[in-house]
Amino acid sequence: MTLPLSFSIYTLGCKLNQLESEALAGAFAAAGFRVLSRPEGAHGQDADITAVNTCTVTGKAEQKARRVIRKLLRDCPSSCVLVTGCYAELDRKELERLALESGALSKTGERRLFIIPGSRKKILQTLPAFLASARPENRQELPSLIQSWMDTHEGNREMRDGDDPDWPNPQGSFFRSRAFIKIQDGCDKHCSFCRVRLARGRSVSLEAEEALARLRDLEARGFGEAVLTGVNIGLYRAAAGKTELNMAGLLKLLLEGTAGIALRLSSLEPDEMTEDLFEILRSARIRSHFHISVQSGSAAVLRRMGRNYGPETVEAAAARLRELKDDPFLACDIITGFPGEGERDFEETFDLCRRIGFAWIHAFPYSPRPGTAAASMKPLVSEREAGKRVASLMELARQGRAAYVQRWLGRSVEAVCESGEDSCLFHAVSENYLRLLCRSAPGEERPLPGRAFTCRINTPENSGEADAVGEISRTCP
Ligand code: SF4
Repeated sequence: MTLPLSFSIYTLGCKLNQLESEALAGAFAAAGFRVLSRPEGAHGQDADITAVNTCTVTGKAEQKARRVIRKLLRDCPSSCVLVTGCYAELDRKELERLALESGALSKTGERRLFIIPGSRKKILQTLPAFLASARPENRQELPSLIQSWMDTHEGNREMRDGDDPDWPNPQGSFFRSRAFIKIQDGCDKHCSFCRVRLARGRSVSLEAEEALARLRDLEARGFGEAVLTGVNIGLYRAAAGKTELNMAGLLKLLLEGTAGIALRLSSLEPDEMTEDLFEILRSARIRSHFHISVQSGSAAVLRRMGRNYGPETVEAAAARLRELKDDPFLACDIITGFPGEGERDFEETFDLCRRIGFAWIHAFPYSPRPGTAAASMKPLVSEREAGKRVASLMELARQGRAAYVQRWLGRSVEAVCESGEDSCLFHAVSENYLRLLCRSAPGEERPLPGRAFTCRINTPENSGEADAVGEISRTCP
């Protein structure tokens, strides 16, 4: 390949999608492509190939994907676009129609938009090497090359649903500086509103020894923490010798098998927070930050959602975490406006969140998803009403976050450097999930991205970019 052709990727959705995008970018970089940090290349130059890693959690996420795809096809007329992810897994036909409508053909009439279902992301990682070996002289050769790659792989469409799960292990960090390990994918539950399980299939888990090897590698490379992520990590199950490890068992293995690297959990389901899990969460190396997938505080709504717990389970879990940890950062997901959610139901949700005093609430309006049981449920709640309920929860969230920051002013915490700008001012995330703006004294060594350090939380910061200003007290070895 004479010219280094360029690649970029738009990532929508969850941490899992972000990790899989990192891995794909890594595969293109390894094949000699220049990876652009921003999809629309800096200085007006667009990438030769842009991937869109889609999400299907809400109608809005899909709408955004369509908007991005149309814009790429319009603004980058000679680039190729790869569409993958959960939306591409479930609505391939819809995206094919979009391709036709948007004239996704090159000047020579060749196709330049390619749809690769999310379950075939693993295979997509073979495309860069295939292209590099074809040694294209310029981007005009890409459409036919990608088409021949698609033709080669299109045959065995049957391969999905856990037969060959994808366990990407990105070595570089093109878009994020914190380290993530994908330990689980898919889900065996049947929440009535959820499309994720339809897109990602049944629950599968990374082998425990492989998870340990990846964590050891990150520790050896100097990372201060790793985020364990998946679709539903509470469903983690993997054989270890004659026994089977669950999430608590995996955490124990990872902590005993490494020296000091910390672990952060992506999110937890209330009914999967068992006593053995609570016990292991006591460890000082497990970050004091828990995102609980609550969804509603009304027992009636939770039943209609097909969730296996009641509001009392959530309250008990929060109280238990506060016993185990020193004022942990508790956050949650809440869906408002679920079919049948009356005023009283929402009051129960609001009261539960107010009683628990979450430091953050990720609230979003219910979005009917095709193929889910809830999509045909009645009575519907108006978008306006659902939006009002989101707004009142977000106001509660802002108050909770401000109160939480206040409680931590003047205290020292461990943090991980997030941004790589070579200046004495940088972003970091604390062990208890506060976004910090840190300053290193002139001439003082500042931590590298992904590295841990200790800092004192000085003053609140209301720029929206950070929660507080931190002052470095020690860079961890
Ligand atoms: S637990 Fe429910 S909401 Fe979460 S991925 Fe599984 S089915 Fe979907």
